[in-house]
Amino acid sequence: MTDAPAAPVFRMEDLVALCRRRGFVFQSSEIYGGINGFWDYGPLGTALKRNLKDAWWRDMVACPPDGPDGRPLSIVGLDSTIIANPKVWEASGHVGGFNDPMVDCRESKARYRADHLMVLVGADDDGSRRMVGFLEGDDAGREKAGKSLAKYEKREFDPANYAIRPFTQLAATDLSRVLGPDAKEPGSLTEPRMFNLMFESHAGAIRDEDSKVYLRPETAQGIFVNFQNVLDSTRVRVPFGIAQIGKAFRNEVTPRNFTFRSREFEQMEIEFFIRPDEAETWYPFWRDLRHAWWRSIGLTGENLVLREHDRDELAHYAKEGAGTCDIEYRFPFTAPGFGELEGVAHRSDFDLKRHAEFTGKGEKSRYFDQERNERYFPHVIEPSAGADRGTLAVLCEAYTPDDSRPSGVVMKFHPRLAPVKAGIFPLVNKDGMPEVAEKLHRELRVKYACEFDPKQSIGKRYARMDEAGAPYCFTIDSDTLADQTVTVRERDTLSQERISIDRVATYLAERIDG
Ligand code: ATP
Repeated sequence: MTDAPAAPVFRMEDLVALCRRRGFVFQSSEIYGGINGFWDYGPLGTALKRNLKDAWWRDMVACPPDGPDGRPLSIVGLDSTIIANPKVWEASGHVGGFNDPMVDCRESKARYRADHLMVLVGADDDGSRRMVGFLEGDDAGREKAGKSLAKYEKREFDPANYAIRPFTQLAATDLSRVLGPDAKEPGSLTEPRMFNLMFESHAGAIRDEDSKVYLRPETAQGIFVNFQNVLDSTRVRVPFGIAQIGKAFRNEVTPRNFTFRSREFEQMEIEFFIRPDEAETWYPFWRDLRHAWWRSIGLTGENLVLREHDRDELAHYAKEGAGTCDIEYRFPFTAPGFGELEGVAHRSDFDLKRHAEFTGKGEKSRYFDQERNERYFPHVIEPSAGADRGTLAVLCEAYTPDDSRPSGVVMKFHPRLAPVKAGIFPLVNKDGMPEVAEKLHRELRVKYACEFDPKQSIGKRYARMDEAGAPYCFTIDSDTLADQTVTVRERDTLSQERISIDRVATYLAERIDG
């Protein structure tokens, strides 16, 4: 027996195939061969992702819980543009001199230019290849790499036995076998990433340097540059948050793993502004709230983890001490490791100060705290989540192979997120049953996404609903016409019971609205 947690019990290809077949996710512009790093959501996927975003908005903005002080959180919404004045990105630090592909070592925290990294490739007796990285031109490093390989292969180091490859030519699947130049365990090197990932375009008729604009790489800056506008136009006062859901674009060097690393994606971000000395209260509050939220929408198993960053992992804006963490999910393609769904960071006053500096407003743009009668730049706790990664995690969590069902698989979505809440079927498409079913459908769809399906055998219709993840199916049969009852079939337990047709709406309300 081993203590290692179980990896997901299905293959990613099977989920991707289901997503395409049932209209959750398609390749963007598929009829032209697609385009790397871009994905379209089909009818079911659109409903699923919308439900996720709506749940976030409702739970974080419209109806947030109480804060650590026992008072309801004050959070307002914003919808800022994708293209902004390019100075925004100078101030934020996104336009910089960094245009090189970089590789990070997660273990040693060292960072290398991808095009400077070489790999010594060995061959073990069993044919598996082990690779050790070293830096181009670093002979001592190469010697060390050779010794390390020889130790692994239990033979003398003879350079003739080994090939040298540029790191950039390795397949993504080889990464787990590469031992970083300063690492003790293989698999710690990230894929190369360009430092400047921003997409560029031009605003206006003339395409020159002056008309150059960027597609935003994060939604956060739209919030920072509107900080004063929100203060002036509402009654919010620190501590308060501004929330935004919107598209972000990053020209990722190696988009991969389905929608996980895309070039166009959606973020759900909150910048929560606090007094500078209160991060130690607010950071753990947000970390735990966001972790609990992902659990509340169905990521309840051991695949969801919270990982606090080490100090030397902190981003340039993160304040030492109050912490940064990732909320991570074990996807089939990251297992046994995890991939980031959301980062919760103490961003300090970095962004507000930078905008004060770059707009020339300086110290006089500090916030005035009436209660304390003092001026300061508020600090920020930022929970920044990905709507696409969230949707993907929800799809992975829901995917449940089940050979006993005709569909072979059932999508066990949390009822709140399920793209279809109920299937409504006439047992046969005659004898007055379709009319009753259609009437029920018309009534229910006002509040719940329901599908009326009169065609094919009842088994096939259940199978379709299992793949769509509909938690309930209601069937109208000849008894309905006599006694006004319908059969309700529950997706997860497969139990069936008869309830009065008048009670269907209440039945759904109790189970979906909670
Ligand atoms: P990674 O290290 O995986 O590139 P990141 O740390 O750069 O992610 P952040 O800048 O913290 O990501 O962005 C916040 C959230 O936005 C992430 O937690 C993730 O859910 C989402 N996100 C970031 N980049 C992408 C991408 N290329 N595709 C899809 N979602 C993304």
